[in-house]
Amino acid sequence: MQHTDTPTNLLDLDLNGLKAFFEGIGERPFRATQIQKWVHELGVSDFSAMTNLSVDLRAKLPEIAHLRFPEIVLHKESTDGTHKWLMRVDSGNCIETVFIPEDDRGTLCISSQVGCALDCQFCSTAKQGFNRNLSTAEIIGQVWLAARELGHVRHANRRITNVVLMGMGEPLLNLERVAPALRLMIDDNAYGLGRKRVTLSTAGVVPGIAKLARECPVALAVSLHAPNDALRDEIVPINRKYPIAQLLEACWRYTEEASIEQITFEYVMLAGINDSLEHARQLVRLLRGKPAKMNLIPFNPFPGAAYGRSEHADILRFRDTLAAADIVTITRKTRGEDISAACGQLVGQVQARGRRHRAQPGAVTAL
Ligand code: SAH
Repeated sequence: MQHTDTPTNLLDLDLNGLKAFFEGIGERPFRATQIQKWVHELGVSDFSAMTNLSVDLRAKLPEIAHLRFPEIVLHKESTDGTHKWLMRVDSGNCIETVFIPEDDRGTLCISSQVGCALDCQFCSTAKQGFNRNLSTAEIIGQVWLAARELGHVRHANRRITNVVLMGMGEPLLNLERVAPALRLMIDDNAYGLGRKRVTLSTAGVVPGIAKLARECPVALAVSLHAPNDALRDEIVPINRKYPIAQLLEACWRYTEEASIEQITFEYVMLAGINDSLEHARQLVRLLRGKPAKMNLIPFNPFPGAAYGRSEHADILRFRDTLAAADIVTITRKTRGEDISAACGQLVGQVQARGRRHRAQPGAVTAL
């Protein structure tokens, strides 16, 4: 990497990127691992505190590099212990990051884009429109900041045990910047999460699935939401480009290429839309005998939503139909609803560009 006058944000670089950076300034590549450990394992952002770097390098770094994070502008804690942060990434845009503590784990849900371009009908992020991709620094910066806010503890006692890319945005449409962040999450000299504890969720960007297997084969979740193309075309419009058969084929191939046991399918339960017995039976035909796990998500309402949450009895009937066909099915507990931190409720603050849904001025409606 060529050194230029603009400082490099080291947060944008995974291990290979850091090695190239140090080589470019005439330093040995092992500096990359040292810096990565300071920043991501130990949560240190001040070069002068990085005591195993040479004195010269500590003096030089601030002139050519920096560590630039999003800025936390608001923090909310739910009565159930869920945390939500609103993070400013530039003068007009904010994203949201959520931490969900459970008995045996702590899951951080991060965003990959400012807004989203996919227009899924039941998702409030979609209604905000799309502004831009997040940089690697802005993606991994969410993990760094949340770890700090939760009290940064080294691997053994850390509070963040899992990361899911289920916040704002479609990660497979920003894989170029998402992949280095994923590699940092799983690197033992950074967050050390292990690739099964990092889950990328996609609405079904089929070509991105094979790329993910090559770039960083983490756990994969797929937002299915409908068991036939007619319905999925309507509520998850990217289905018109990549229909269900193509999507599922890419999924089964992913389990082999990424050596993972199964794909998690997310299915938001919309009253009277996709929650009938017939829908459940269609799903069984798609998934029976396949390496698939179902995650039923009760719809989370938001202002202006055109849908309602399925009745509890309908969700149970749906689950039982799938379970009877030996499809492992869990119903996701709704968390953080009182602070609008639940699935599909993340809106941040998005200056939409050239889309028919325009964000309301100052629309931090979730907070
Ligand atoms: N674009 C990616 C990442 C976002 S994940 C994807 O679609 O997978 C966010 C998850 O929450 C997805 O499964 C999404 O379909 C679901 N979701 C969106 N809106 C929701 C809502 N209002 N209630 C419940 N779940 C919702």
